[in-house]
Amino acid sequence: MPEIMTAVPDLVGPYQPIWSRPDVLRGILHSLRRLPPLVEAEDCARLTDELATVTRGESVVLQAGDCAELFTDSAPERVRAKAAQLHELGSRLRRTGRAPILVGRLAGQYAKPRSRSVEIGDDGVEIPVYLGDAVNDRTPTAAARRPDPHRLLLAYSHAARGLRTLASGRTTYASHEALLLEYERALVRPDPIRGGVFASSAHTVWIGERTRDVGGPHVEFAASVSNPIGVKIGPGVDPAEAAALVSRLAGTRPPGRLSLIVRMGADRIGERLPPVVRALGEDAARVVWLSDPMHGNTVRSARGLKTRVMRRMTEEVERFCAVLHRHRVQPGGLHLEMTPDEVTECVENCAELGPGPARSRYRSACDPRLNPAQAIALVERFTEVLTGA
Ligand code: PEP
Ligand code: MN
Repeated sequence: MPEIMTAVPDLVGPYQPIWSRPDVLRGILHSLRRLPPLVEAEDCARLTDELATVTRGESVVLQAGDCAELFTDSAPERVRAKAAQLHELGSRLRRTGRAPILVGRLAGQYAKPRSRSVEIGDDGVEIPVYLGDAVNDRTPTAAARRPDPHRLLLAYSHAARGLRTLASGRTTYASHEALLLEYERALVRPDPIRGGVFASSAHTVWIGERTRDVGGPHVEFAASVSNPIGVKIGPGVDPAEAAALVSRLAGTRPPGRLSLIVRMGADRIGERLPPVVRALGEDAARVVWLSDPMHGNTVRSARGLKTRVMRRMTEEVERFCAVLHRHRVQPGGLHLEMTPDEVTECVENCAELGPGPARSRYRSACDPRLNPAQAIALVERFTEVLTGA
């Protein structure tokens, strides 16, 4: 068990937890460095090749899953249900005439960057926020929220368990946000296929909106590995900054290496995305453009619940495609937060944001997810837009 903390748990540097036991952390990182890779370099290389076909309009990506996975989500029946949902949506994407590439936000999506470091617990006392199962426990008590380095080893085992189930089904790749640098660095392995090293924690990882500073350590990490990499870009991205990210991360590497995951919000994408595409010049056609219509459209309901409105998300997807089409660049796919469970975390329209009855099936460990019907609706709309229907 972790000992009583002396330091106040908080986020230091770019969203890294202050671990309760630095001595224990060192031992755990030492063990992680000796464990087998979670994924194989050749599968990562194959994914890069497949993603390159997206830039030519031959395939389309669906990257989707929980905002924050729980360790219990590594159970085979959970992973099978999520893979089945991805494949169901993938079969709908086939109507675009393009081959679907399915990438789960799963088997490792265990760490969250949070905008606040503390919140008020059930008994009215301030406690550290939940940072994902790789860091602390969801239970709203100060003790449960203490960052515990043992959880990094558990993250490895649960990811391994999830990946075993994933590998036994049809091709589905695994991805997560590369947030916890100590964990990610401990899992870097030599890449016999492409040379250099690869991140063996997942087939592809992405860098979040909060940690994509071009001179920061997350981008440095992403630049150092051979995997396909994603970077989220929000409404505040400076076009020159986006161009610098692309040159740092894609450089002279083949298309498919870098995906830009656009999450600007329905209101702002029409104004903010065009200068970004223009600033990339010819590189714009070499990156994979994904639309995350969730993170720029998060609102709070009158009851204080974080939610997202289907209409706004649909509009963002439509505007994303319109901007890219105008610039003769392929819209490459969707990045969604969704679950196979019948939750009521996202709503259909703004009228449902009022102080109506409590939404009974709100279970997300972090952000609101699409339920199966909502995920289908967004994928179908994207499919219609791509086929010009
Ligand atoms: C997320 O994908 O859950 C997330 C935190 O996204 P962003 O970095 O775009 O805010
Ligand atoms: Mn999220």
